[in-house]
Amino acid sequence: MPRSDIAQVPTPLEPAPHLSAALGDVNIFFKRDDLTGRAFGGNKTRELDFIIGEAVMQGADVFISGGGARQSNHAVQCSAAAIRAGLIPVVVIYDAGPIGWQGNLLLDDLMGVDIRFLSADSIDNVIFQRDTAEATMVEVAAEYVQRGHRPYILPSSFHPLAAAAYAGCMLELNDQTTQIGLSDYHVYVTSSGATQTGLILGSTYMTLGVPITGISHTAARDGLENRLVDLADRTADLLNIPRSVSALDIENESFAGPGYGILTDAAKEAIRLTASTEGIFLDPVYTGKGMAGLIAHIREGRLASGSNVIFVHTGGLPAIFSYSAELMDR
Ligand SMILES: *Cc1c(COP(=O)(O)O)cnc(C)c1O
Repeated sequence: MPRSDIAQVPTPLEPAPHLSAALGDVNIFFKRDDLTGRAFGGNKTRELDFIIGEAVMQGADVFISGGGARQSNHAVQCSAAAIRAGLIPVVVIYDAGPIGWQGNLLLDDLMGVDIRFLSADSIDNVIFQRDTAEATMVEVAAEYVQRGHRPYILPSSFHPLAAAAYAGCMLELNDQTTQIGLSDYHVYVTSSGATQTGLILGSTYMTLGVPITGISHTAARDGLENRLVDLADRTADLLNIPRSVSALDIENESFAGPGYGILTDAAKEAIRLTASTEGIFLDPVYTGKGMAGLIAHIREGRLASGSNVIFVHTGGLPAIFSYSAELMDR
Protein backbone atom coordinates (compact mmCIF):
# COMPACT_ATOMS: atom_id res chain seq x y z
CA MET A 1 0.00 0.00 0.00
CA PRO A 2 1.20 3.56 -0.60
CA ARG A 3 2.93 5.00 2.46
CA SER A 4 4.12 8.49 3.20
CA ASP A 5 7.00 8.17 5.67
CA ILE A 6 5.11 10.47 8.07
CA ALA A 7 5.29 8.30 11.20
CA GLN A 8 8.38 7.31 13.14
CA VAL A 9 7.86 3.60 13.56
CA PRO A 10 8.53 1.16 15.13
CA THR A 11 7.82 2.94 18.39
CA PRO A 12 9.52 1.74 21.59
CA LEU A 13 8.09 -0.91 23.90
CA GLU A 14 9.13 0.06 27.42
CA PRO A 15 8.65 -1.58 30.83
CA ALA A 16 7.09 0.60 33.54
CA PRO A 17 8.51 -0.98 36.72
CA HIS A 18 7.66 1.82 39.13
CA LEU A 19 4.07 2.19 37.98
CA SER A 20 3.74 -1.61 38.14
CA ALA A 21 5.08 -1.65 41.72
CA ALA A 22 2.68 1.11 42.72
CA LEU A 23 -0.27 -0.90 41.43
CA GLY A 24 0.73 -4.29 42.83
CA ASP A 25 1.35 -7.55 41.13
CA VAL A 26 1.25 -6.84 37.37
CA ASN A 27 3.99 -5.97 34.87
CA ILE A 28 2.98 -2.95 32.85
CA PHE A 29 4.69 -1.98 29.60
CA PHE A 30 4.05 1.07 27.43
CA LYS A 31 3.87 0.81 23.65
CA ARG A 32 4.97 4.38 22.98
CA ASP A 33 2.74 5.45 20.11
CA ASP A 34 2.86 8.88 21.70
CA LEU A 35 6.31 9.00 20.07
CA THR A 36 5.25 8.62 16.44
CA GLY A 37 6.52 12.15 15.76
CA ARG A 38 4.71 15.09 14.04
CA ALA A 39 2.77 17.49 16.25
CA PHE A 40 3.71 15.65 19.48
CA GLY A 41 2.81 12.20 18.16
CA GLY A 42 -0.10 9.86 18.68
CA ASN A 43 -2.07 7.04 17.08
CA LYS A 44 -3.39 9.19 14.21
CA THR A 45 0.13 9.77 12.92
CA ARG A 46 0.69 6.02 12.54
CA GLU A 47 -2.64 5.84 10.69
CA LEU A 48 -1.78 8.83 8.49
CA ASP A 49 1.28 7.09 7.11
CA PHE A 50 -1.13 5.18 4.86
CA ILE A 51 -3.84 7.81 4.51
CA ILE A 52 -1.49 10.59 3.38
CA GLY A 53 0.15 7.98 1.16
CA GLU A 54 -3.19 7.47 -0.56
CA ALA A 55 -3.90 11.22 -0.83
CA VAL A 56 -0.51 11.85 -2.44
CA MET A 57 -0.96 8.91 -4.80
CA GLN A 58 -4.28 10.43 -5.91
CA GLY A 59 -2.54 13.72 -6.67
CA ALA A 60 -4.30 15.76 -3.96
CA ASP A 61 -3.01 19.18 -2.94
CA VAL A 62 -5.52 19.87 -0.13
CA PHE A 63 -6.19 17.58 2.85
CA ILE A 64 -9.61 18.01 4.50
CA SER A 65 -10.10 16.26 7.82
CA GLY A 66 -11.42 16.71 11.35
CA GLY A 67 -14.82 15.71 12.60
CA GLY A 68 -13.81 15.99 16.24
CA ALA A 69 -13.92 18.51 19.06
CA ARG A 70 -11.93 21.72 19.40
CA GLN A 71 -9.13 19.87 21.18
CA SER A 72 -9.04 17.28 18.40
CA ASN A 73 -5.75 15.39 18.29
CA HIS A 74 -6.83 13.92 14.99
CA ALA A 75 -7.19 17.34 13.35
CA VAL A 76 -3.75 18.47 14.51
CA GLN A 77 -1.98 15.29 13.44
CA CYS A 78 -3.77 15.34 10.07
CA SER A 79 -2.72 18.93 9.52
CA ALA A 80 0.91 18.38 10.51
CA ALA A 81 1.10 15.29 8.28
CA ALA A 82 -0.56 17.14 5.40
CA ILE A 83 1.88 20.04 5.69
CA ARG A 84 4.81 17.64 5.77
CA ALA A 85 3.58 16.07 2.53
CA GLY A 86 3.08 19.49 0.91
CA LEU A 87 -0.75 19.56 1.12
CA ILE A 88 -2.89 22.46 2.37
CA PRO A 89 -4.52 21.50 5.71
CA VAL A 90 -8.23 22.12 6.29
CA VAL A 91 -10.18 20.91 9.34
CA VAL A 92 -13.86 20.88 10.23
CA ILE A 93 -14.24 20.70 14.02
CA TYR A 94 -17.00 21.11 16.58
CA ASP A 95 -17.07 24.18 18.69
CA ALA A 96 -18.26 22.34 21.81
CA GLY A 97 -17.06 23.49 25.22
CA PRO A 98 -15.46 26.62 26.53
CA ILE A 99 -11.79 25.68 26.07
CA GLY A 100 -9.96 28.48 24.32
CA TRP A 101 -6.98 28.78 22.01
CA GLN A 102 -4.80 26.40 23.97
CA GLY A 103 -3.43 22.92 23.38
CA ASN A 104 -4.33 21.46 20.02
CA LEU A 105 -6.28 24.49 18.90
CA LEU A 106 -3.21 26.65 19.42
CA LEU A 107 -1.21 24.18 17.29
CA ASP A 108 -3.84 24.38 14.53
CA ASP A 109 -3.50 28.14 14.55
CA LEU A 110 0.31 28.06 14.53
CA MET A 111 0.20 25.79 11.49
CA GLY A 112 -2.10 28.20 9.67
CA VAL A 113 -4.81 25.56 9.29
CA ASP A 114 -8.03 26.58 7.54
CA ILE A 115 -10.40 25.82 10.46
CA ARG A 116 -14.17 25.60 9.97
CA PHE A 117 -16.23 25.39 13.17
CA LEU A 118 -19.54 23.56 13.50
CA SER A 119 -21.78 23.67 16.53
CA ALA A 120 -22.43 20.42 18.38
CA ASP A 121 -25.13 19.60 20.90
CA SER A 122 -23.87 16.23 22.00
CA ILE A 123 -20.16 15.90 21.48
CA ASP A 124 -20.27 12.28 22.73
CA ASN A 125 -22.43 11.25 19.81
CA VAL A 126 -20.39 13.29 17.38
CA ILE A 127 -17.14 11.63 18.46
CA PHE A 128 -18.71 8.19 18.48
CA GLN A 129 -20.57 8.42 15.17
CA ARG A 130 -17.79 10.37 13.39
CA ASP A 131 -19.68 10.97 10.17
CA THR A 132 -21.76 14.04 10.89
CA ALA A 133 -19.17 16.54 9.69
CA GLU A 134 -18.79 14.90 6.29
CA ALA A 135 -21.42 17.04 4.56
CA THR A 136 -19.49 20.16 5.56
CA MET A 137 -16.23 18.62 4.39
CA VAL A 138 -17.82 17.98 0.99
CA GLU A 139 -18.94 21.64 0.80
CA VAL A 140 -15.47 22.89 1.71
CA ALA A 141 -13.97 20.55 -0.89
CA ALA A 142 -16.24 22.06 -3.55
CA GLU A 143 -14.98 25.51 -2.55
CA TYR A 144 -11.37 24.41 -3.07
CA VAL A 145 -12.20 22.70 -6.38
CA GLN A 146 -13.66 25.99 -7.63
CA ARG A 147 -10.35 27.63 -6.82
CA GLY A 148 -8.52 25.02 -8.92
CA HIS A 149 -7.41 22.61 -6.18
CA ARG A 150 -7.61 18.83 -5.82
CA PRO A 151 -8.88 18.10 -2.31
CA TYR A 152 -8.74 14.75 -0.52
CA ILE A 153 -11.40 14.21 2.17
CA LEU A 154 -10.76 12.04 5.22
CA PRO A 155 -14.21 11.97 6.85
CA SER A 156 -12.84 10.45 10.08
CA SER A 157 -10.21 8.10 11.44
CA PHE A 158 -12.83 5.33 11.51
CA HIS A 159 -11.28 4.15 8.26
CA PRO A 160 -9.86 0.86 6.90
CA LEU A 161 -6.45 2.45 6.22
CA ALA A 162 -6.32 3.52 9.89
CA ALA A 163 -7.23 0.04 11.10
CA ALA A 164 -4.68 -1.44 8.67
CA ALA A 165 -2.01 0.71 10.34
CA TYR A 166 -2.92 -0.81 13.72
CA ALA A 167 -2.97 -4.33 12.32
CA GLY A 168 0.60 -3.43 11.38
CA CYS A 169 1.21 -2.20 14.93
CA MET A 170 0.19 -5.67 16.18
CA LEU A 171 2.85 -7.21 13.91
CA GLU A 172 5.36 -4.73 15.28
CA LEU A 173 4.34 -5.59 18.85
CA ASN A 174 4.62 -9.29 18.08
CA ASP A 175 8.20 -8.79 16.85
CA GLN A 176 9.11 -6.75 19.93
CA THR A 177 7.56 -9.14 22.46
CA THR A 178 9.17 -12.11 20.73
CA GLN A 179 12.52 -10.37 20.94
CA ILE A 180 12.27 -9.87 24.72
CA GLY A 181 10.68 -13.27 25.33
CA LEU A 182 7.28 -11.96 26.38
CA SER A 183 4.84 -14.59 25.18
CA ASP A 184 1.83 -14.11 27.41
CA TYR A 185 0.40 -10.61 27.58
CA HIS A 186 -2.77 -8.56 27.59
CA VAL A 187 -3.16 -5.33 25.59
CA TYR A 188 -5.05 -2.28 26.86
CA VAL A 189 -5.79 0.61 24.52
CA THR A 190 -7.92 3.74 24.72
CA SER A 191 -10.16 3.32 21.70
CA SER A 192 -13.62 2.73 20.39
CA GLY A 193 -12.51 2.69 16.78
CA ALA A 194 -9.77 1.90 14.31
CA THR A 195 -7.00 1.49 16.87
CA GLN A 196 -8.63 -1.36 18.76
CA THR A 197 -10.09 -2.81 15.55
CA GLY A 198 -6.70 -2.96 13.85
CA LEU A 199 -4.96 -4.51 16.85
CA ILE A 200 -7.66 -7.20 17.06
CA LEU A 201 -7.49 -7.88 13.32
CA GLY A 202 -3.70 -8.26 13.56
CA SER A 203 -4.00 -10.64 16.49
CA THR A 204 -6.79 -12.80 15.05
CA TYR A 205 -5.19 -12.91 11.58
CA MET A 206 -1.92 -14.14 13.07
CA THR A 207 -3.83 -16.34 15.57
CA LEU A 208 -1.85 -14.82 18.43
CA GLY A 209 -4.79 -15.01 20.84
CA VAL A 210 -3.77 -11.78 22.57
CA PRO A 211 -6.64 -10.39 24.67
CA ILE A 212 -7.17 -6.75 23.67
CA THR A 213 -9.26 -4.58 25.95
CA GLY A 214 -10.48 -1.27 24.62
CA ILE A 215 -11.28 1.46 27.09
CA SER A 216 -13.61 3.96 25.53
CA HIS A 217 -13.41 7.73 25.95
CA THR A 218 -17.07 8.35 25.02
CA ALA A 219 -20.23 7.52 26.89
CA ALA A 220 -22.08 6.76 23.62
CA ARG A 221 -21.58 3.17 22.50
CA ASP A 222 -24.71 1.89 20.74
CA GLY A 223 -23.82 -0.89 18.34
CA LEU A 224 -20.10 -0.58 19.08
CA GLU A 225 -19.34 -4.28 18.53
CA ASN A 226 -21.04 -4.34 15.12
CA ARG A 227 -19.34 -1.14 14.05
CA LEU A 228 -15.91 -2.53 14.90
CA VAL A 229 -16.60 -5.91 13.24
CA ASP A 230 -17.76 -4.09 10.12
CA LEU A 231 -14.57 -1.98 10.07
CA ALA A 232 -12.44 -5.10 10.65
CA ASP A 233 -14.15 -6.80 7.69
CA ARG A 234 -13.64 -3.81 5.40
CA THR A 235 -9.99 -3.66 6.50
CA ALA A 236 -9.46 -7.38 5.84
CA ASP A 237 -10.95 -6.90 2.37
CA LEU A 238 -8.59 -4.00 1.72
CA LEU A 239 -5.59 -6.05 2.86
CA ASN A 240 -6.77 -9.05 0.92
CA ILE A 241 -6.71 -11.32 3.99
CA PRO A 242 -9.54 -13.46 5.40
CA ARG A 243 -12.15 -11.80 7.62
CA SER A 244 -11.24 -13.02 11.11
CA VAL A 245 -12.91 -10.74 13.69
CA SER A 246 -16.25 -11.51 15.35
CA ALA A 247 -18.22 -9.61 17.98
CA LEU A 248 -16.88 -12.06 20.57
CA ASP A 249 -13.35 -10.71 20.02
CA ILE A 250 -14.40 -7.23 21.05
CA GLU A 251 -14.01 -6.35 24.68
CA ASN A 252 -14.64 -2.67 25.31
CA GLU A 253 -15.68 -0.72 28.37
CA SER A 254 -16.36 2.99 28.74
CA PHE A 255 -14.45 5.00 31.31
CA ALA A 256 -15.71 8.30 29.90
CA GLY A 257 -17.49 9.12 33.18
CA PRO A 258 -19.96 11.97 32.60
CA GLY A 259 -18.86 12.34 28.97
CA TYR A 260 -16.24 12.96 26.30
CA GLY A 261 -13.56 15.42 27.32
CA ILE A 262 -14.76 15.77 30.92
CA LEU A 263 -11.94 14.97 33.33
CA THR A 264 -12.78 12.30 35.93
CA ASP A 265 -11.15 11.83 39.35
CA ALA A 266 -9.96 8.39 38.24
CA ALA A 267 -8.29 9.82 35.11
CA LYS A 268 -6.67 12.57 37.15
CA GLU A 269 -5.28 9.96 39.56
CA ALA A 270 -4.04 7.87 36.61
CA ILE A 271 -2.31 10.87 34.99
CA ARG A 272 -0.62 11.96 38.22
CA LEU A 273 0.42 8.42 39.18
CA THR A 274 1.94 7.68 35.75
CA ALA A 275 3.75 11.02 35.63
CA SER A 276 5.12 10.71 39.17
CA THR A 277 6.24 7.07 38.86
CA GLU A 278 7.50 6.93 35.26
CA GLY A 279 7.86 10.49 33.99
CA ILE A 280 5.39 9.56 31.25
CA PHE A 281 2.44 11.84 30.59
CA LEU A 282 -1.12 10.81 29.79
CA ASP A 283 -3.86 13.14 28.59
CA PRO A 284 -7.21 14.00 30.21
CA VAL A 285 -9.45 13.08 27.25
CA TYR A 286 -8.16 9.66 26.13
CA THR A 287 -5.15 7.95 27.68
CA GLY A 288 -5.85 9.17 31.24
CA LYS A 289 -9.24 7.48 31.04
CA GLY A 290 -7.69 4.40 29.43
CA MET A 291 -5.19 4.07 32.24
CA ALA A 292 -7.99 4.68 34.77
CA GLY A 293 -9.72 1.64 33.22
CA LEU A 294 -6.59 -0.49 33.51
CA ILE A 295 -6.07 0.61 37.14
CA ALA A 296 -9.70 -0.21 37.98
CA HIS A 297 -9.35 -3.66 36.43
CA ILE A 298 -6.15 -4.33 38.40
CA ARG A 299 -7.83 -3.26 41.64
CA GLU A 300 -10.89 -5.39 40.91
CA GLY A 301 -8.56 -8.38 40.48
CA ARG A 302 -9.54 -8.90 36.86
CA LEU A 303 -5.92 -9.43 35.80
CA ALA A 304 -4.23 -12.49 37.28
CA SER A 305 -1.29 -11.88 39.57
CA GLY A 306 1.96 -11.61 37.61
CA SER A 307 0.14 -10.67 34.36
CA ASN A 308 1.99 -8.77 31.66
CA VAL A 309 0.01 -5.82 30.34
CA ILE A 310 0.94 -3.65 27.38
CA PHE A 311 -0.74 -0.25 27.48
CA VAL A 312 -0.76 1.31 24.01
CA HIS A 313 -0.06 4.99 24.64
CA THR A 314 -2.05 6.69 21.88
CA GLY A 315 -0.76 10.23 22.55
CA GLY A 316 -3.01 13.26 22.95
CA LEU A 317 -0.58 15.28 25.02
CA PRO A 318 -1.17 18.83 23.74
CA ALA A 319 -4.61 18.76 25.38
CA ILE A 320 -2.99 18.62 28.84
CA PHE A 321 -2.31 22.33 28.74
CA SER A 322 -5.94 23.27 28.21
CA TYR A 323 -6.90 21.34 31.37
CA SER A 324 -4.40 22.93 33.76
CA ALA A 325 -7.05 24.21 36.19
CA GLU A 326 -8.67 20.77 36.58
CA LEU A 327 -5.38 18.86 36.67
CA MET A 328 -3.62 20.98 39.28
CA ASP A 329 -3.54 19.84 42.89
CA ARG A 330 -2.47 23.09 44.48
C1 LIG B 1 -8.24 9.43 18.57
C2 LIG B 1 -7.57 9.00 19.83
C3 LIG B 1 -7.89 7.78 20.46
C4 LIG B 1 -9.00 6.88 20.00
O1 LIG B 1 -8.75 6.22 18.84
P1 LIG B 1 -9.89 5.41 18.06
O2 LIG B 1 -9.31 4.09 17.84
O3 LIG B 1 -10.09 6.17 16.81
O4 LIG B 1 -11.12 5.35 18.91
C5 LIG B 1 -7.18 7.43 21.59
N1 LIG B 1 -6.22 8.23 22.12
C6 LIG B 1 -5.91 9.41 21.56
C7 LIG B 1 -4.88 10.24 22.21
C8 LIG B 1 -6.57 9.83 20.40
O5 LIG B 1 -6.26 11.03 19.86
